[in-house]
This record gives sequence, C-alpha cells and structure tokens, in this order.
Amino acid sequence: MPSESKYIHNALKQVHLNTSCTSVNGFSISGLATYFQFPELDFAVDMGECPLSATSINHVFLTHAHGDHARCLMRHHSLRKMMGVERDSVYYLPQEIADGAKKWIRAEALFEGVPEAKFRYPEICPVEKGNRIPLKYRKDLVLEPFEVKHSVPAMGATLYLHKRKLKQEYLGKTPAEIIELRKNNVEITREVFEPLVSFLGDCLGESILQNPGVFQSKVLVLECTFLDDEDEPMSHKKGHTHLRQILKALEKNRGNIACEKIILTHFSMKYSEKHIHDMLDKNIPDDFKDIVVPFI
Ligand SMILES: [Zn+2]
Ligand SMILES: [Zn+2]
Repeated sequence: MPSESKYIHNALKQVHLNTSCTSVNGFSISGLATYFQFPELDFAVDMGECPLSATSINHVFLTHAHGDHARCLMRHHSLRKMMGVERDSVYYLPQEIADGAKKWIRAEALFEGVPEAKFRYPEICPVEKGNRIPLKYRKDLVLEPFEVKHSVPAMGATLYLHKRKLKQEYLGKTPAEIIELRKNNVEITREVFEPLVSFLGDCLGESILQNPGVFQSKVLVLECTFLDDEDEPMSHKKGHTHLRQILKALEKNRGNIACEKIILTHFSMKYSEKHIHDMLDKNIPDDFKDIVVPFI
C-alpha cells in the first residue's frame, strides 16, 4: 500500500519506544537512514538524519562510515551552533575511521565556505575495542565498544551505568557501623557496571554470537536487514544480519538473556510494514514475543 510505504520510509517520522532505563527515538531502514536517540542517557547512535530532537544530545557514537548512518554527523554539530548550544558534542568514532572522518569534516566545511583560517574540528574521540570510556558530560555512563563484522570497519558498543555498591559483607550493617567503617578508611563499596544499552550497528549475524555479553543489557538494538529465506545469500554478501541468525542467537542464549527489550532495526526497504510484522509473528518463539520488537 502506498500510504504504508510512505510511512515506513519517511526517515523524519520518528519511531518511539519506552524502556525502564531510557526512551528510544529514531529511525532505521537499510540504505535510507539510521539514527537512534536515547535522551535520558544524553546519548545518540549514528546520525543518518538529524532531526531537531537530536540537537540537545551531547554524546554521539558512530558505528561506521556508511552514508545512511554518518552523513548528518556534522549537520548535528552545525545545527547545535545555529541554535545557540555553546557546548561541543563529543563524537565517538571507531579508531579506524577517525582520520577519514576528519578529512571529510574539513572538506565539507571548506565546501560550505568556511574560511580555512576559521575552521576548527568538533570534538572527536576515536575509540578502540575493549576500552571503557566515561561519557564526557555523564561520568556515570561508560561506553565500551566492540568489533563487529560488516563490509567496512564497524563497531558496536555497550553503555553501562557505573556505580558503587555496598560490598556483600557490609549489607547488614547499621548506618552508625557504616560511618565507623568509613572513618577507619575501610573500603566498603565495590564498583558495579550495569549494562543498560547494547547496539551492534550494521553487521553479519555471526557478530551477535561473538558478543554474547550483549544479552545482559536491558536494551539490545540489533540490525535485522533481511527476513525472507531467499535473502540469506544476500545477507552474507552485503555483511548484514538475517532474521534466521537472530533466531539462532536467541536459541543459543536462551535462559541467559536479561534483556527487557530486543529492538530489531534496519529492515530492507523492500519489505512492507505488514510483511515485517508477519515474518516476526511467524518466526519469533512465543517466549520471546514480548521482548523482541521491530523498530518501525
Ligand atoms: Zn546500514
Ligand atoms: Zn553499513
């Protein structure tokens, strides 16, 4: 139906989802545009479009350089300046693409007529797999990137809430005893990293199996570009995930999945909204139906 495809393919018509730790606003259809905003976490992933709702967000992670994910990165930077936001956002990029991004950012600015002497880079933070980085303006949140396999260098990441909790042995103590222990410089707390959101970006389905830790996050965002049986060879060729691989990963991790929501995104633009719902209804096992939701 034309009206349906108009809806599902309109990148500025945001999808909204609520979870216990953040709302998720955005859009993701393969080849058109992908962007996610987690406003309560002051965090965004990819910037394939930059609606005004993105401008208040101070931290942006770019999964890879493909245009439908990256092209509005500097639109975000310049829109903020136009709207009088003084603080620079921080752009977290995979180390491998950081140099290329800087050349692109500079070239784009000069193309737009920014005099060379006036040009300055936005704040770019290259990230490497396994390194935990506290977000610049939200020190309670820590980003940990990991590698995924796509047709170009690409990364996923987990965003953790970093807090300190009372050690097990001190749980039953009274406030007076705790104060006394503190006075005596006893370390009564331990560090806890609570995984809030994991996202894999564009990748082959095997990247899910290679990063099973993502199933411990409250919110997990997975790409699911292809659904139909005959599209399986295409998913390998293009470096994308097929629904069948997600089903395999769910099955393999059954019993060890702590996710409140598993959000499927980045469907091929050839599928209609109805087809996506039908395929998920038909294939997602009953016990996962409440947590696995399409982002359309
Ligand atoms: Zn993509
Ligand atoms: Zn891609």
